[in-house]
Amino acid sequence: MNQSDKITALYCRFSKDDMKSGDSVSIANQKIILQKYADDNRLFNTQFYVDDGISGTMFDREGFNAMIAEVEAGNISTVIVKDLSRFGRDHVMVGLYTTIIFPEKGVRFIAIGNGMDSADGDSCDFAPFVNIINEFYARDTSKKISAVWQSKMQRGERVNAEITYGYIIDPENKKRLIPDSETAHIVRKIFDMFVKGERMCAILKWLEENRILSPGALKFQRTGYMRYKRASEIPYLWSEKTIYDMFVRKEYLGHTITAKTRKLSYKSKKKLYNPEDKQHFFPNTHEALIDEEIFELAQKRIATRHRPMKTNEIDIFSGLLYCGDCGKKMTLARGAKSEDKHGYICSAYSNRKRSGSLCTTHSIRKFVIKEIVLADLQRILGYVRANEQQFAKKAIENGNRETQKSLDAKRKELVQATLREKELDTLFRKLYEDNALGKLSDSQFQMMTAGYDEEKIGLTEKIKVLEKEINSVNERKDSVNKFLKVVKKYMDIRDLTYENVHEFIDRISIHEADSETKTRKIEIQYNFIGQIENDENNDKMIQTIKRGGLCEAT
Ligand SMILES: [Zn+2]
Repeated sequence: MNQSDKITALYCRFSKDDMKSGDSVSIANQKIILQKYADDNRLFNTQFYVDDGISGTMFDREGFNAMIAEVEAGNISTVIVKDLSRFGRDHVMVGLYTTIIFPEKGVRFIAIGNGMDSADGDSCDFAPFVNIINEFYARDTSKKISAVWQSKMQRGERVNAEITYGYIIDPENKKRLIPDSETAHIVRKIFDMFVKGERMCAILKWLEENRILSPGALKFQRTGYMRYKRASEIPYLWSEKTIYDMFVRKEYLGHTITAKTRKLSYKSKKKLYNPEDKQHFFPNTHEALIDEEIFELAQKRIATRHRPMKTNEIDIFSGLLYCGDCGKKMTLARGAKSEDKHGYICSAYSNRKRSGSLCTTHSIRKFVIKEIVLADLQRILGYVRANEQQFAKKAIENGNRETQKSLDAKRKELVQATLREKELDTLFRKLYEDNALGKLSDSQFQMMTAGYDEEKIGLTEKIKVLEKEINSVNERKDSVNKFLKVVKKYMDIRDLTYENVHEFIDRISIHEADSETKTRKIEIQYNFIGQIENDENNDKMIQTIKRGGLCEAT
């Protein structure tokens, strides 16, 4: 093939990362620029190679590969890109093509925006430097890209491809979720059974008996995608994992969570789970399927991770009882068949030979705790009912007192941290520009920005903590309201169940009996609001019992 018959390859690339730059780098724009350049420079036989929606950090791109295949075959004389970053953002790989492969194949390489043309020896000295900047930019963008998604989400748009079981896409607005009338009630039923203390195998059995299609089988039925075929062969067999995964999905509260996973690095496609504080949270983007209280209960049951024992039910206090002295869990000892004989002892004590713990038994009968907890719950229900306004006011004030003291100092600190953060951003941008313009060498740039990341991370963390603390006053109000809502759900409690105990109570601390006074202290920590102070004498609500007997408040 004559040199003049060879192809002039015009390569365009556009990716999500480029969205924020608007239309200036759109494929259409790149095509116009490249064609004009080729025409102006009398480079004929042009052909476009296009990669739309592919990041510059990946080199496994369709258009790119097609072009390289032609290069390998010796059919291309010239490759033109708008600028180096269109070609790629990994300087090692860009360098490999521009300085090794292309010269070997006699291909002329032109990056218009960088003034780079391999036919003009001098212009190429600039290349390694530009490549490094491009790589840096990719790293920088991979941090910023989430901001683009975030703004999308703030407009209420759905970006997760996966649709949470129980929802379907709103046919009138493809970016929104609405409850799926076929499956929403299944989600509610599963949560309901779980928070009532039903065992996992009972839930699985219910699903099978009622011939409820597993999410995979349902997808196969609806879409026919082959990857769900296996699930469709055992249509009513749900896995425990599927169900546990459902319990932690905040989508069921009506929220959207993005960035649940992140890429291992900006060069790789491998995904890792993001810690919760790195995920993006968008409240109330769609209709909730599950009440917040039910959801909280499910979280608690997961957190305590108690497995059902030999007997058929989960202990109603499971995960709530702690030794008041060493802080370890209390374990249930099912002495005899009769529940009257069941009791709890400090787990550090029962493992004392192995752990070397010096803690004492703290032994207490189950029926004793039951009576105390029931009496206290009834006391609180009665009190809250009779004095709702007063109770709410007091509960909120109790919380405020703690935070109010340091609130002003914290506000001041927050303002300072926010200002410093802005300052750092400005400083960094300036250095970045100086570096890009060549006013600052790479090593100077690296030296001057070395501490930047660390300080920035520290500041971001600090700002988050401060904001949280300042907001805690408002959260306190929410907590009290949540508690009132739970109270309203129960007119009266005559028996303790797994559900009502866990709905009200966070933690029960059992102290050792005092041998002199023959009393012992039991502290009940209530959900959302902590310990509830006794209204009459303002003492902490601490129940003291006589050994073996029941209930005398101190
Ligand atoms: Zn103990």
